[in-house]
Order: sequence, then C-alpha cells, then structure tokens
Amino acid sequence: MVSATENSLRQNIIDGCLAMNAQGYNHGTSGNISHRLDGRMLITPTSTPYDDLKPELIASLALDKNDTIWDGPLAPSSEWRMHRDIMLARPEINAIVHLHSAFATVLSAKRITIPAAHYQIAQFGGDDIRCAEYAQYGTQALSDNALAALDNRTGCLLANHGMLAIGDSLEKALWLAVELEAQAHCYFHTLQIGGPILLTKEQIAPPPGANSNYGLRSS
Ligand code: 13P
Ligand code: ZN
Repeated sequence: MVSATENSLRQNIIDGCLAMNAQGYNHGTSGNISHRLDGRMLITPTSTPYDDLKPELIASLALDKNDTIWDGPLAPSSEWRMHRDIMLARPEINAIVHLHSAFATVLSAKRITIPAAHYQIAQFGGDDIRCAEYAQYGTQALSDNALAALDNRTGCLLANHGMLAIGDSLEKALWLAVELEAQAHCYFHTLQIGGPILLTKEQIAPPPGANSNYGLRSS
C-alpha cells in the first residue's frame, strides 16, 4: 500500500512529464523523470506514453547498486542506471529530468559545451554546461559519462541524445530543464551571428542580495 505522500509524489512526476510534453520540450515517449524517496527512487516506466501514466504505473527501485529489482507493473525507464547513479553520487539531488528537447539535442549532436553566453548559466553551478561523451541509451557507460559531465553542475548535454537537469526538488529540476533548453536556444542562435561575447565568472555571479532562486518558492 502506497502512502498518500508517495502517491502525490508519483502524481507530481506525471504532471512534470505532461507539462514538458505540453510545452513542446518533449515528445512521444522520449525522456524520463525520477524522484528520490527514502532510500528508493520513483521513476517513469519505460516506453509508456505520458498521457497513459497513472500513479500506480510509476516504478520504484532501491538506491542500491547491488539491488536491481524494481516494484511496479511496468519496467522502469531504460535510463534507470543513470538516474540511480546520480542519486547515489549526489545526495543533495532529489529529482532528475531527462529530455530530448530540440536545441539541447541539436547542440548535443555536435557535442558542444555551452559557454557563458547568458548569465543564467550560473544556475548550473559554473560557467559552462558540458556535453557527456556518447554512449548508447540505457547503458552503464552512459550513466558513467553523464556523472562525469555533471561534476559540480546541475545540468549537462548527452551527446547525440538530449539533456539532463538535476535539482534538490522536482520543481527545481523542471525549472532547470526549461532553463537548459533556453541556454541551448540562445547559444545556437548566437552561433548564427558570429558567436556570443562570453561572460566571465565574475559577470555571471549573482549581484549582492539577489534572489538566486528566481521564480521558485523557497523551501
Ligand atoms: P524510456 O522510455 O525507457 O524512459 O526511454 C526514453 C529515453 O529518453 C531513453 O534515453
Ligand atoms: Zn533519452
């Protein structure tokens, strides 16, 4: 029996998926979302249209490298290793959003590191957003490559694939996913006009007293 808290977390994951599709950041069954819950991870099931999702279809997995058995009527996302390994390596991270959004995917196909063309890149923990080396979807190699690209960062591109955004809450991870796509969109277009004038680390630092959480509620 799933608690009311867990059930609403499962619904939040579904709502996040539906919002990403409705806003055009995702399509079909691409992408996946996970959330940490008491030593476990809730994650979207594999190859399931988001319109068909129900809380009871969300898969649950132990956050344990030696335990690969999941609970749920459907198998977890093929990217469960990547989500699990990030949650294990980054205890401050509670939610992970993976998208095949258009501009992030275009830059990922060229394996481009996004530089500081726009000051909001600072939201990702530094002055760039790296691109993880290519590995086939669903593999341990992709998980390893993603973790390396996410070092001290809250987002990365996945070569020839898409992107990842990670946050201490689902709200933050979804916000970062939208922001990462905006960074990719901006950088892509600046390349058409000769490339951006890049900002320095000092220039992207928030000014004194700034709310670095922008439109998000403080928790
Ligand atoms: P799943 O349907 O297995 O989550 O796969 C979608 C995806 O984006 C793979 O990288
Ligand atoms: Zn994918």
